[in-house]
Amino acid sequence: MVKNKKILTTNFGKPVDDDQNSITAGDRGSVTLQDVHLFEKLAHFNRERIPERVVHAKGAGAGGYFEVSKDVTKYTKAKFLSKVGKKTEVFARFSTVGGEKGSADAERDPRGFAVKFYTEEGNFDLVGNNTPVFFIRDPLKFPDFIHTQKRNPTTNTKDANMFWDFLSLTPESIHQVTILFSDRGTPKNYRHMNGYSSHTYKWYNNKGDYFWVKYHFKTDQGIQNLTQQQAEVLKGNDPDHATRDLFEAIERGEYPSWTLEMQIMTPEEATTYRFDPFDVTKVWPHSDYPPIKVGRMVLNRNPENYFAEVEQAAFSPGNFIPGIAASPDKMLQGRLFAYHDAHRYRLGPNYHLLPVNRPKTLTMTNYQRDGLMRFDGNEGGKPNYYPNSFDGPEPMPDAAEPAFSVSGKAARQKYIHQNDDFVQAGNLFRSVMTKTDREHLINNIVTHLCHTNKEIQLRQTKIFFQADPKYGRRVAEGLGLTLKDVKN
Ligand code: NDP
Repeated sequence: MVKNKKILTTNFGKPVDDDQNSITAGDRGSVTLQDVHLFEKLAHFNRERIPERVVHAKGAGAGGYFEVSKDVTKYTKAKFLSKVGKKTEVFARFSTVGGEKGSADAERDPRGFAVKFYTEEGNFDLVGNNTPVFFIRDPLKFPDFIHTQKRNPTTNTKDANMFWDFLSLTPESIHQVTILFSDRGTPKNYRHMNGYSSHTYKWYNNKGDYFWVKYHFKTDQGIQNLTQQQAEVLKGNDPDHATRDLFEAIERGEYPSWTLEMQIMTPEEATTYRFDPFDVTKVWPHSDYPPIKVGRMVLNRNPENYFAEVEQAAFSPGNFIPGIAASPDKMLQGRLFAYHDAHRYRLGPNYHLLPVNRPKTLTMTNYQRDGLMRFDGNEGGKPNYYPNSFDGPEPMPDAAEPAFSVSGKAARQKYIHQNDDFVQAGNLFRSVMTKTDREHLINNIVTHLCHTNKEIQLRQTKIFFQADPKYGRRVAEGLGLTLKDVKN
């Protein structure tokens, strides 16, 4: 036998004598029940797949660091942001939203932009998108919305009628629809796009003052997008193009980076601001809240094993640390529940113990025990209840976030500012987009919306009109609708 050769074993450590020939009764078979190695191998293979994420199933990830470039201690007491030059390890995952695990990276879709910061106070996750807004602003609508982006229950194919039916009955979606159908809906790859928190969050400092904030990760590579034609070709020729691009760029030593810019609003300003600052279908215009550069994220490490680090990575907008908390944004509040719940289903109740998910520089101590796949020592003989008189961990009152006042009724309630749903989509179309951007936008919409029935086309075109009359008119022309039809 060759010296130091590694021995192949079963999952329980018994050396395997032969991994090419099953144990058979006679040289022609049958296979005997005695071949426990064969059955272990087949049974484990049958269980290799875990439930894919119901959204954001197709993704790519990489590790790296975040480095602080500006003193923000007057806004937040988060320790990882406490000093200029301080570096914190991160893991980021990028993804499409609606497609399955095998779908093409070049689909028209928002892109997920999730970052886990392994801070000394626990893990902080930012789970955003490459768009600063979202289609809906109430979590009660989310499962319906996602159904319309997926497959028809009868044909099991994507269905333009479902897609536009829902959007045309949900006018607050127009801002995100306008971004999605611009070329930003098909970014060139994951390196050439921005990431936004989209939601408003809360920062609070050591004195207990708090602020409302939005995060913008601006790509240092510059924004680059695909045209619809380029995306169509890539979908067929290279469905994993963005996954490969990220991996290969890091292998080459071309580490992608993003500059983090923050918008910061005081609680007093929030009470009188002309938009609801917690409405995720709106941005805060830069002229009102100029973004402040606070640091940079660099991705310089490829995962060694995709399943261990990327598939098992579990992000949640509910993972906060002292100094950072939620805002009342209703959509965010729904996500605070949904992400942990999704991971418990996908990975099991102890998913937080998996290496990619557990804090790196801090020991978790609490009274939660047992559960499927508890694979560490389960806290041994330490007390498993609180309060106790056996030196168990105690809550830290300093970790409390500052309270904020609420008023009104507890009821199912609409957003108050509903008449401004079209303002920002109109501004984007008129003032931010170039002539070429607008041409691509109209063409991208028309070539998708034309697959719906006329009633849906008319209802959606009215919404484009409300954002901007030229926007509506050009879509109507593209669809061959008369203005009289649309105005009725
Ligand atoms: P500004 O003129 O100050 O900012 C416009 C911003 O839009 C740019 O800074 C850029 O942000 C982004 N942008 C540029 N081209 C496009 C495009 N083709 N599609 C989508 N976004 C683009 O105006 P406001 O802050 O008043 O915003 C006007 C509109 O711009 C908003 O209604 C929104 O649709 C869009 N926008 C605004 C953002 C914000 O946070 N204020 C962020 C992104 C878009 P970036 O560098 O972040 O891409």
